[in-house]
Amino acid sequence: MANIPELFGSNVFGDETQKAVLPKPVYKALRATIESGADLDVSVANVVANAMKDWAVEKGVTHFTHWFQPLTGITAEKHDSFISPQSGGTVLNEFSGKELIKGEPDASSFPSGGLRATFEARGYTAWDPTSPAFIKDGILCIPTVFLSYSGEVLDWKTPLLRSMHAVSKSAVRVLKLFGQQTTRVITTVGPEQEYFLVPQELFVKRKDLVYTGRTLFGAPSPKGQELDDQYFGAIRAEVSAYMSDLNEELWKLGILAKTQHNEVAPAQHELAPIFGNTNIATDHNQLTMEVMKKVAEKHGLVCLLHEKPFAGVNGSGKHNNWSISTLEGDNLLEPGDKPFENTRFLLFLAAVIAAVDNHQDLLRVSVASAANDHRLGANEAPPAVISMFVGDELAAVLEAIASGSPYVAAAAASLASGVKAVPDFVKDTTDRNRTSPFAFTGNKFEFRMLGSSNSIAGANIILNTAVADVLTGFANALEGAADFEAAAKALIKETVVAHARIIFNGNNYAPAWLEEAATRGLLNLRTAADAYPYFAAPENIALFARHGIFTAAEVESRTEIMQEAYAKAIRIEALTAAEMAQKDILPAALAYSGTLAKSANIKAKLSLTAKTEIALVEEIDTIVASFVDAKAALDAAVTGLDALEEAAAQAAYCRDALLPALSALRAYGDKLEPLLAREALPYPTYGDLLFY
Ligand code: ADP
Ligand code: MG
Repeated sequence: MANIPELFGSNVFGDETQKAVLPKPVYKALRATIESGADLDVSVANVVANAMKDWAVEKGVTHFTHWFQPLTGITAEKHDSFISPQSGGTVLNEFSGKELIKGEPDASSFPSGGLRATFEARGYTAWDPTSPAFIKDGILCIPTVFLSYSGEVLDWKTPLLRSMHAVSKSAVRVLKLFGQQTTRVITTVGPEQEYFLVPQELFVKRKDLVYTGRTLFGAPSPKGQELDDQYFGAIRAEVSAYMSDLNEELWKLGILAKTQHNEVAPAQHELAPIFGNTNIATDHNQLTMEVMKKVAEKHGLVCLLHEKPFAGVNGSGKHNNWSISTLEGDNLLEPGDKPFENTRFLLFLAAVIAAVDNHQDLLRVSVASAANDHRLGANEAPPAVISMFVGDELAAVLEAIASGSPYVAAAAASLASGVKAVPDFVKDTTDRNRTSPFAFTGNKFEFRMLGSSNSIAGANIILNTAVADVLTGFANALEGAADFEAAAKALIKETVVAHARIIFNGNNYAPAWLEEAATRGLLNLRTAADAYPYFAAPENIALFARHGIFTAAEVESRTEIMQEAYAKAIRIEALTAAEMAQKDILPAALAYSGTLAKSANIKAKLSLTAKTEIALVEEIDTIVASFVDAKAALDAAVTGLDALEEAAAQAAYCRDALLPALSALRAYGDKLEPLLAREALPYPTYGDLLFY
């Protein structure tokens, strides 16, 4: 095992390295840009670029790339070498400030949602100095934003950075009213990442996994997750070796990989880093997902990040732990010992409550995807209805505020195990709620609706913007107040009363909750296709405009991109299922029933009844007939989809026609599978994939 403190961040051009290799004034100028957004001079960028290059070259690096996050949800890179020709036919390694600051990838093949005609191909990447450069696979990667020639935003990082700015601006104003001078407020995120690992040699035999990331067929295996023996279970040697390799790779990239454990479903695991600045945490999570896949390959495994690779067992999510703090690390959602008396905490808490209630639709859109639709509302994932859990203690505090009655704190209780040798301890004032989509967990909120493959940028853009919007309103209301403390308390009360409907501390998985949520007027956007149109609602366009996050055109183009991506994903699933039906399942069923029929024939000649063969052939034939019909219906549904032009119509059609046709075909396929002999099966089963 390597020396971890030495290994950690060894591939990152971070603060420590910057301090060591940059001349002092240059280092100071760079830090000022990173910490307070001060303008960076080109002469400074030149020195930084050169030092960055020298540092990288010493580590064997030959190329650099502007690393960016287009709307595909994954990252993009185009490598350029450092070589610069010199007279005499020689070359030198060179990297200028200009190359560091600006790149010009062709933007025409990235999703733009009609924002840009294809002939207007120019796109620019621009250095984000607030997220450190790093070396990945021998390439110096520079985190950048991505814009079109006419300045439209084509990526996830730009709006995220803008939303961070909006939070800071509004929160600094509010803190000032509390007499707290601070230059910057940031949001922090710790994303818990769930994933599956399956053997590569089995994975490649399943076209559904290869093309779509999820199984489109597959009867349940005899054993699933019902014994609860996987969650936190001892980690097998094979997986353990993977995890330790993965940790090392992440540590080298300065990613604070901290917690690992087996998850609920068989072959499912989780990795959680220590939280950090949302911008960097987002870059790190994108990197984490990439490294997870790469390391798996080295171990003969495939890392599945799809939200629902297997029907009937838990899907994979990504819990977005979120808080808001000063740059110095003063967490504004820290209730302290006496939350009831902590006006600052209550005001920020009220802001989050109002933000979530006001923007349920946008939060739902931010986690919407074809894949996550299979996860939300099933097997231990929150439903599509957004509500907030605050816990017993805070619920009582909020209750007291709303009714204007005094709050009596419950005494801290200690917990005795009843075993002499085990020390008693003071327990938390509130239990956890695992069913809530948006739960307060002590000093942060945990947004649990994100899917495992989601970029966390989307959800955090919405959270930041929504909270910034409420905080701006708070600052406006309180800045002129004669008695700040009284005005703040009144505002907290007013907000808590107005948004009480969003708080729900009960069981979110219970069907009764969905009924109650409807009577409370909470949104229930069951599918992604239902959710997308809300993104471009007039009040949302106005919200984004108010905080300089997106223009109306950008909102509309993003809506279209999401709808297109949804329809394309489902279309690929339909084509894959149709192909597997025709090329794998049908031939397997026909071959096996043919073998049985032959045997029946031979037995008949011997005057034997062949009852079993005949019964089985009949059973298979009946299902095959329906299977073939369902396949034809699916083909027809795809033809129907291809006749539609508008992205919104395509998405709705996929939800209403394609997905039902797909499940109908699957149902017959999954009935056939258990009837076939093991050696007659067309591909590895759920049992093979999950219990290897
Ligand atoms: P759980 O018990 O919910 O599974 P984990 O320890 O797996 O908890 O993950 C909790 C996550 O929350 C970690 O990534 C942790 O760093 C993060 N976290 C803790 N405090 C904050 C905070 N103030 N802001 C954002 N994330 C935080
Ligand atoms: Mg966890």
